[in-house]
Amino acid sequence: MKLCRKCNVTRPFEHFHRCRANKDGYQSYCKPCNVAQGMEWQHKNPKLTIARVRRYQMKAVNRKKKRATNAVYVAVKSGKLVRQPCEECGELKVEAHHTSYAKAEQLNVMWLCRTHHSAWHLEHGEAK
Ligand SMILES: [Zn+2]
Ligand SMILES: [Zn+2]
Ligand SMILES: [Zn+2]
Repeated sequence: MKLCRKCNVTRPFEHFHRCRANKDGYQSYCKPCNVAQGMEWQHKNPKLTIARVRRYQMKAVNRKKKRATNAVYVAVKSGKLVRQPCEECGELKVEAHHTSYAKAEQLNVMWLCRTHHSAWHLEHGEAK
């Protein structure tokens, strides 16, 4: 049994997380206190948590984006996909634009020149 320094309840060892730094090999706070503390932290730092989630989502989008861009690159190289002039102005120097990064939509691209490509994103934001 071990006394939790936070809630002052004596609990069996299995109610404590292991911690090698402590003499007895267990953390000073019990598991329920750890959970409560974690939630309190989130409550006190909602911005930080949101930023963290957002960063995580950004990473996921970047991963999808990379995958989609690469799929287009491979398809163009193999002739499966043919570059088209800009859908807006007919400019021949184009970039592949994804309206969606979903796997099934990877090769479903719009061809847009740099100007119209950034214009699209200014208006619609980042594709999903
Ligand atoms: Zn406790
Ligand atoms: Zn254009
Ligand atoms: Zn785009």
